Amino acid sequence: MLKLFALSFLCAVVLPAQDSDGKIRVIAFGAHPDDCDIRAGGTAAKFAALGHPVKFVSVTNGDAGHQSEGGGALAKRRRAEAIEAGRRIGVTYEVLDNHDGELLPTVDVRQQIIRRIRQWNADIVLAPRPNDYHPDHRYTGVLVQDAAYMVVVPNVTADTPPLRKNPVFMYYEDGFQRPQPFRPDVAIAIDDVFSKKIDALDAHQSQFYEWLPWVDGRLEDVPKDPAERKKWLAGQRGRPVSPAIRGTLEKWYGKEKAAQVRDAEAFEVCEYGRQPKEEDLRKLFPMLK
Ligand SMILES: [Zn+2]
Repeated sequence: MLKLFALSFLCAVVLPAQDSDGKIRVIAFGAHPDDCDIRAGGTAAKFAALGHPVKFVSVTNGDAGHQSEGGGALAKRRRAEAIEAGRRIGVTYEVLDNHDGELLPTVDVRQQIIRRIRQWNADIVLAPRPNDYHPDHRYTGVLVQDAAYMVVVPNVTADTPPLRKNPVFMYYEDGFQRPQPFRPDVAIAIDDVFSKKIDALDAHQSQFYEWLPWVDGRLEDVPKDPAERKKWLAGQRGRPVSPAIRGTLEKWYGKEKAAQVRDAEAFEVCEYGRQPKEEDLRKLFPMLK
């Protein structure tokens, strides 16, 4: 009852941003230091270039993501990589000190997330969907969902003032089909910032040049030369735009422009949090103008 009342009240207020300064404040959550960059690095670079503040939060410290390193030393290395990645695209990066590979949707971690969303005064919150092969990704999705209403409830996590307006929560694109496939509500063309996104990914050296190729049994393929391996990384990361995302690009950019797009990032509106109309989404994603 309380929830229904609060949601209908919040939905009735159509404002583009929490503050009147016109800034769109974006916070993105990933399970590991590099997840936000992979899913939203291009879009984040665009927000940042337009002067809108973006924060990436890794919910775990990444201390399990390597074949020969681990623990505190790896967490320290990955935090430094994440901060450098953020610097390269103009994004604030925070790495929370929860163990990699052991994330659970506890009240403690939910509160960590509620605090970050409130402190950032977020208009848009990005997160993975809660169906994914990796338990840390899955539970990051659950944790952000669990925060989606609580960020406006004053008596929950009472040490941090609540938001007066619920943000719009959105999911990153993924390829999982069950229980339902990803629905691209918004798609952002990132061709003009693709090299910036690769710059950000390149900062996560422990991942893109060591751990992930090792998992794939392709460590030998990684070029040694820094410029060569960045080129190699760009080749790995560019991928064809799916028909569904092409359709969404057409909606937002028009058919002609959409046909030219080579790389895009897409987002699905979560049914919790503020429910934006099409004109709200145009305000929230000013690069669509
Ligand atoms: Zn991950």
